[in-house]
Amino acid sequence: MEKEAEKLTPMMVQYRQIKEQHQQSILFFRLGDFYEMFEEDAVEVSRLLNLTLTKRNGQPMCGIPYHAAKVYIKRLLEAGKKIAICEQTELPDGTRQLAKREVVQVVTPATVVEEDFLQADRDSFVLSLSFQKQGFSISYADITSGQFFLRLVDKDNRYAMLLSVLQQVNPREILVNEDDYFLHQDFQALMDGHPAMVTKLPSWHFSISEGYQRLCNQIGSASLKAFGLEAKDPMLSSAGALLWYLRETAKTSLNQIEGYTVVPESQFLHIDEASRKSLELLTNLADGSEKYTLYASINATLTSMGARQLKQWIASPLTDIAKITFRQRWVTLLYEDRGELARVRSHLKQVLDLQRLSSRLAMHRHVPKDLVGISQTIRSFFNLADGRYQELLGDGLQEETLTALAVVARRIADGIADDHQGPFEEGKIIVSGFDAELDELRAVKGGGKAILDAYLDKIRGETGITTLRLSSNKILGHYIEVSKAQADRVPATFYRKQTLVNAERFTSDELIACEQKILASSYEAEKRERQVYETLVEEVMNLQQSLLSISRFLSDLDCLQSFASTAVTHSYCKPVFTDEDVLEFEGGRHPVVEQHLGAGQFVANDLVIGSTGKRFCLITGPNMAGKSTFLRQTALLVLLSQIGSYVPAAKARLGIVDKLYCRVGASDNLARGESTFLVEMQEAAHILRTASRNSLVIVDELGRGTSTQDGMSIAYAVMQQLLQMQAKTLFATHYHELARIDTSAIQLLTLQVSEQGGQVRFLRRVVEGIANSSYGLNVARMAGIGRDVLTHARTFQKQHFAEYDFISVQPDLFSAINEDSPQHIYYDESEQEALHRLRSFSIEQSSPLEALLFLKGLQ
Ligand code: ADP
Repeated sequence: MEKEAEKLTPMMVQYRQIKEQHQQSILFFRLGDFYEMFEEDAVEVSRLLNLTLTKRNGQPMCGIPYHAAKVYIKRLLEAGKKIAICEQTELPDGTRQLAKREVVQVVTPATVVEEDFLQADRDSFVLSLSFQKQGFSISYADITSGQFFLRLVDKDNRYAMLLSVLQQVNPREILVNEDDYFLHQDFQALMDGHPAMVTKLPSWHFSISEGYQRLCNQIGSASLKAFGLEAKDPMLSSAGALLWYLRETAKTSLNQIEGYTVVPESQFLHIDEASRKSLELLTNLADGSEKYTLYASINATLTSMGARQLKQWIASPLTDIAKITFRQRWVTLLYEDRGELARVRSHLKQVLDLQRLSSRLAMHRHVPKDLVGISQTIRSFFNLADGRYQELLGDGLQEETLTALAVVARRIADGIADDHQGPFEEGKIIVSGFDAELDELRAVKGGGKAILDAYLDKIRGETGITTLRLSSNKILGHYIEVSKAQADRVPATFYRKQTLVNAERFTSDELIACEQKILASSYEAEKRERQVYETLVEEVMNLQQSLLSISRFLSDLDCLQSFASTAVTHSYCKPVFTDEDVLEFEGGRHPVVEQHLGAGQFVANDLVIGSTGKRFCLITGPNMAGKSTFLRQTALLVLLSQIGSYVPAAKARLGIVDKLYCRVGASDNLARGESTFLVEMQEAAHILRTASRNSLVIVDELGRGTSTQDGMSIAYAVMQQLLQMQAKTLFATHYHELARIDTSAIQLLTLQVSEQGGQVRFLRRVVEGIANSSYGLNVARMAGIGRDVLTHARTFQKQHFAEYDFISVQPDLFSAINEDSPQHIYYDESEQEALHRLRSFSIEQSSPLEALLFLKGLQ
């Protein structure tokens, strides 16, 4: 190793030292106008980006021009890489041959703030998590908006809650404690399979006491009491690591993080991961896009801040009636006053992404255009927010702050050129007429030509050489040019600088003095311009907190007007919340299906659970009758109500739901290599263990993944337990036999179907009753299955499914299946024998051959 190091050039030694500190990143090593990559990084990047790989002193290398770096960084981020950007921070001088180089920023998916790398309508959260005795310590922050959340998430259901939070937050990057990762194989598998970039950090970063200190330091406070955090709070473990990581990668101040939000788990309507997916809230199951999602069907936001906020709201429905009705109040205000709604919308159209603009400023990664955007948005804010929105705005903005905001917005509008793209460029940013001193310096600088013209006139007169010229170039600066023929007439005060074929070039003390005067004024003008600009930046940065308050107000208002607009466009109604334990929808519709069927095509349906309606609804009906749609629509109506939105119904009245379960098919889990049946059972077990009387449970076609008898038995057993728990339940099944058991506590519902002359028509209307036959064969016929096949099927049906004996079904059969304890799986005798032998076999005391023979024996 020593020997090899001796052969390295000093630069490669420097490279390796820096690379050593950034092993998880691709190191962009600045050399002149290029970022160079060496060794393994070069090989990997050349493959990923299709760049030419070269060799230098036997080392593989490849490079990209620094001014085009963005494009390459973007592609590397997309390929799941992090990039450490290493710049020359001091040039070589007499004492040092090599420029000093330092990593100035680590670019990761969650720590970029530049527009080019971000999706306007997606939050850019980095989430940190660690295992604590009390649960999962989870924190997440978005440095593009300054939001920072802390949570303690229940571990009782192994990873169920964690998965739900990951689905809810949708982070771009996840930080985990190395020890947790390597100690828990199932957790490791979970992380490896997660689409976000997963970064493993050594466990010392997750220390609670250091976390406490870091969080205090960040906001310059001696304690975190104001945020409800004690010094030993387990949430500080993940929060400390997160803050450390953000600082370490951004390598700049993070003034946009000015506080922390502790999120109590009971604040949200709990929806587990599978239900979130199957309800297609933000992404659809088919291709993962936003098409046909709840979000797409209700989104009428006009700003990217609002779009991101709406996604957060949809992912986090509330359980506090006061908070929900607070939102409702504003929706009602806008819904009822269409003129005001139109006014708000027209102003919101002018609003830019204030959160991201001001965060870029806080991190010193801004361009002049960002200031212009901030000013424009502050002015829209003033146009928008009149007295009636005071309560929505909160009390974060005092009168004097508002004045300061107005002043700074005006100053930017007056001072900064609004058509300049890209970074600061002298002479192009501050407009004339804004700063007297700058104007004066510019006048002197502009006067340079006059000074030179006067001097030229003077020497022409003195020498009598009329063809004498003044010019300049980069090498000589300003010079006097005289043709060869006239050269002997120049005075002695001229010094020769250059001889050309036909001309001689001179300078003089007086010319040098002119030149210096011009240079000085130009330098002073540039200096002043930068100063004026920096002062404006400073003035805005001092208002950082107010800008975040305004951003919050604007994004809230955008979401609220979006609810109102959607309610107007699609005739939604305001749900009424009650303390009673009921769910009542009159004329309920499915928000997504309705929009895609076209006007008037969707058949609205009623549902009453609690009060006059029994709590358990058993819904029968043939395939295609509309059962799933009715089920999902009920879940979505509840969810929409609990985010403060109006709902697609004629009337809605409900008590708060605490947990929402939606089991509709389990096909997406098949990709994880689990059988449909197993997944179904695990999910059902999860519901039975965690649901409460205040939960809404939606189960569609349970038991489809197994034989009819088993399926029906399981469905029956689950149904019995749900009945006992008294959770509000919608249970759809094609096992119509289930409706023939004791139904005193069951509301029997079916989807109306009319049959005329063998032709089935689905009326999509939910009515009381049981479907009399499955119509499955009719549907098959409609789908084009041949007459012979159908006749056979009918005979078979008559012979085999005449009746089904429920007495033999064990209601507690279900309790045998428990996702937490795989040992509860039933084995037959020979399997038990094999298991016993496997458990008692000692691996340590066996040779590989013995182990192999043992395995063969078992097989
Ligand atoms: P099931 O679950 O009973 O098999 P679905 O709920 O999948 O049936 O509905 C089948 C199709 O019927 C849906 O794709 C939708 O287009 C249409 N549909 C369902 N409910 C309604 C309704 N209430 N009004 C109009 N069309 C409906």
